[in-house]
Amino acid sequence: MKKHIKIISLMMLTMATLSQAMAGVHWGYEGNELPENWAKLSPEYQMCGLGKNQSPINISNTIQADIGELDIHYGKTSGNIVNNGHTVQITEKNPNDYIILDGQKYTLTQFHFHAPSENQINGESFPVEGHFVHANSNGDLLVMAVMFKEGSNNQSADQLLSLLSEQENTPANFDSVNIAAFLPEQTHYYRFSGSLTTPPCSEGVTWIVLKEPMELSKTEIDKFTHAFKHHNNRPTQPLNGRLIISN
Ligand SMILES: [Zn+2]
Repeated sequence: MKKHIKIISLMMLTMATLSQAMAGVHWGYEGNELPENWAKLSPEYQMCGLGKNQSPINISNTIQADIGELDIHYGKTSGNIVNNGHTVQITEKNPNDYIILDGQKYTLTQFHFHAPSENQINGESFPVEGHFVHANSNGDLLVMAVMFKEGSNNQSADQLLSLLSEQENTPANFDSVNIAAFLPEQTHYYRFSGSLTTPPCSEGVTWIVLKEPMELSKTEIDKFTHAFKHHNNRPTQPLNGRLIISN
């Protein structure tokens, strides 16, 4: 009997180690795997619980400062779109869209969507938030967030969503979609330090949240919400003395 228990616990240990080694421990937004439990799911996710500069946040009590305009270089691009089970993600084939911030070039590596929004502005949540993830040559991350409210349709979103497979992890290729169409004309922004909003919740991420929301049609918003099985937003995290700069 004792031997049996030993063998079974050894098997369970091996299986747990194996699943951890494979592409990280599973996490989600519902049930046992919800955001409040992320830190307990794996030692690799401990920052989700211990971190003091976590994202998302509620943006309020901002400090006005002359932090300059955003220098955004977005155009037409090719790549693929996939529902990876956590989000709808677009990856460029030959990344050539970029932002200049503090004299450094941050190249767009992928962008994806959350519904409803993760960050809030003065307590206000938006139906959809786009995260445009950039990296500089040192691998430092910059996420530029764009809020979307309900209104008229966005042609680039239409083009991409029409290709999105119902099946998870089934990428579809696209050519020549105008990424700049996701950005507002006015690029005033909030800036603060934060983290990835998904495990492993790594910190040291520069966050830029554009103040002016864009619009998506109800059909487009419904498509995102349907893909995310109702929601994929981590709750807002404590500010812990961080400053939010605004221009
Ligand atoms: Zn995100």
